[in-house]
Amino acid sequence: MTDFQYQSPKTIQEIVLALGQDGQVLAGGQSLIAAIKHGLSQPSLLVDLKNIAELQTITLANDQLLIGAMVSHQLVANHPDIRQKISALAKLANGIGDRQIRAMGTIGGSVANHDPAACYPSALLALGATVITSRRQIMADDFFTGIFTTALEPNEIITAISFPVPYKAAYAKFKQPASRFALIGVFVAVFAKEVRVAITGGGHGVFRHLSLEKALTKELHPNVIDAVKIDPTIFSSDQHATAIYRANLVRVQTKLAVQQILHRV
Ligand SMILES: Cc1cc2nc3c(=O)[nH]c(=O)nc-3n(C[C@H](O)[C@H](O)[C@H](O)COP(=O)(O)OP(=O)(O)OC[C@H]3O[C@@H](n4cnc5c(N)ncnc54)[C@H](O)[C@@H]3O)c2cc1C
Repeated sequence: MTDFQYQSPKTIQEIVLALGQDGQVLAGGQSLIAAIKHGLSQPSLLVDLKNIAELQTITLANDQLLIGAMVSHQLVANHPDIRQKISALAKLANGIGDRQIRAMGTIGGSVANHDPAACYPSALLALGATVITSRRQIMADDFFTGIFTTALEPNEIITAISFPVPYKAAYAKFKQPASRFALIGVFVAVFAKEVRVAITGGGHGVFRHLSLEKALTKELHPNVIDAVKIDPTIFSSDQHATAIYRANLVRVQTKLAVQQILHRV
């Protein structure tokens, strides 16, 4: 572990200025501190977001939920507006890691990190969310560009995420038992004209499954999933699961999510 400076500014403008050339944003530290300890990240300056009050707010307006980047998983899981309007998102947050991870980990940190087995990216994609940054607004479809990579540019920070309220939604995760990250997680969101399906845990970053979306938009029923081809070659194999196993999990978890939507289980 190398030495680094630490700052905790009070405004977003000060954060952006402080980041300069070599600074790195610190949110809850749940991924970043481990990365620094293992030498995977070697920032010369950590710029902490914890004192920026506007990053910790949740607001509901015009059927859009706006969740500040520093909102913890615990708060997403328990907030009455989120539980009422997008209960699948609250349930997803409640299934992340353990109690400590949920207390410290943040939605902005999870989305910026884009761990290929993280849960939130699938919610953003399926719900058609917008990532709001210190510079611009980025549609979720354009945000996740690869494993641990996003459309964020140097010194650009996420300030909030805006979620449209769907007609119905569900998230079904098959947990990797040690970490509780998703071995496969499927988020299904139903809107007036379409069903959107996003998959995490496949190994190459979150993505939408267009064939599943087409079938479920035509008929929202678990049986239609059997006829959809789930190509195992788009998944990776590792010590936890083979690509074929992951492809099968996608079918199973999508059925479970659709069953939740139809029967609210
Ligand atoms: C044991 C364990 C189990 C976990 N299980 C799950 C799980 O089941 N599901 C799941 O989804 N996640 C899981 N996580 C991840 C966890 O949910 C955290 O959200 C994630 O680690 C990010 O942590 P953080 O919010 O503290 O961000 P940090 O660790 O502080 O930062 C992570 C990265 O994002 C950058 N960053 C942070 N905030 C911003 C911002 N606002 N703008 C731009 N860049 C930013 C940082 O510079 C850093 O590169 C787990 C983590 C651990 C350690």
